[in-house]
Amino acid sequence: MARALIAGGAGFIGSHLSENLLSIGHEVFSLDNLITGEKNNLDNLTSNPALEFIEKDITADLSDVKDKLKDVEFIFHLASPASPNKKSARSYVNHPIETLLVNSLGTYNLLSLAKDTGAKFLFASSSEVYGDPSISPQSETYFGNVNPVGVRSSYDEGKRFGEALTMGFIRKHGVNARIVRIFNTYGPKMQKDDGRVISNFINQALSGNPITVYGDGKQTRSLCFVSDMAEGIMKAMLAEGTKGEVINLGNPNEKAILEVAEMIKEMTGSNSQISFEDLPEDDPKKRNPDISKAKNLLSWNPKVDLKEGLERTIEYFRTL
Ligand code: UDP
Repeated sequence: MARALIAGGAGFIGSHLSENLLSIGHEVFSLDNLITGEKNNLDNLTSNPALEFIEKDITADLSDVKDKLKDVEFIFHLASPASPNKKSARSYVNHPIETLLVNSLGTYNLLSLAKDTGAKFLFASSSEVYGDPSISPQSETYFGNVNPVGVRSSYDEGKRFGEALTMGFIRKHGVNARIVRIFNTYGPKMQKDDGRVISNFINQALSGNPITVYGDGKQTRSLCFVSDMAEGIMKAMLAEGTKGEVINLGNPNEKAILEVAEMIKEMTGSNSQISFEDLPEDDPKKRNPDISKAKNLLSWNPKVDLKEGLERTIEYFRTL
């Protein structure tokens, strides 16, 4: 049994990770300032005495919780707004400064804690560090094609800075840290109004509203079910030989967005029309992870295919 700290613990992926860690007997401190996470994501876990939720902004001074956190062995940094959709209040486009600070100052505070406690550290980065990629699939050695001042830059550059800072703490202080680059992930506990493609399409289909495809829908994404992602993140932290490594995590099954809209319309039996809207600025045209490194280093491979994952996600949104 070990103690783990999850920053962003009430978020979509953070809450699944909390559940996984508790299920193998770890104690979990879940920190979240709830600007985009929701405490009810942890409702099914709060009866477990091994979970402690602390409402906290990690960009603020951590000294008030330092004593409580002095024995943590694992620090997972998943705290950040992550939706690019400006129509959603939860989007990083509407929280540019918080997004930059949580990935810079927040990362600095958690890396400093890792340095002081000797805890292992994991930075949740993103496929967004590749920007609008000029190669596909994207492997970890690709440097990316990012607009440093565009509407997505608070997230893209925040993640790139967080990665550089993590490498700085490894090189300068020997902190036992690793970086995972998370590609598009979906599943239960996504916020209904977070504006991302799967939650939007399913909720539009279930309510009979138009399914909003941005652009011509030919842009691609590779969608990973959240249970696979949480398992990949755990392995990246726990497996031997991951210190200093940068690892893509995602499902390489690449689909055009229009095809995803059609699948969801059919699977929900919806009468919704598909309506085409303007493509947001700097929307990447393709995204597909090369996951050979995760396969070799972590013996990890996503198991849930798109059809099964969508069924489980549709089921979840029907219950809301
Ligand atoms: N998208 C769409 N309709 C929506 C929401 C998103 O067509 O209602 C598109 C979006 O333009 C992008 C893709 O779906 O090409 C994935 O968008 P998402 O916001 O989920 O995340 P991203 O991969 O862009 O970070």
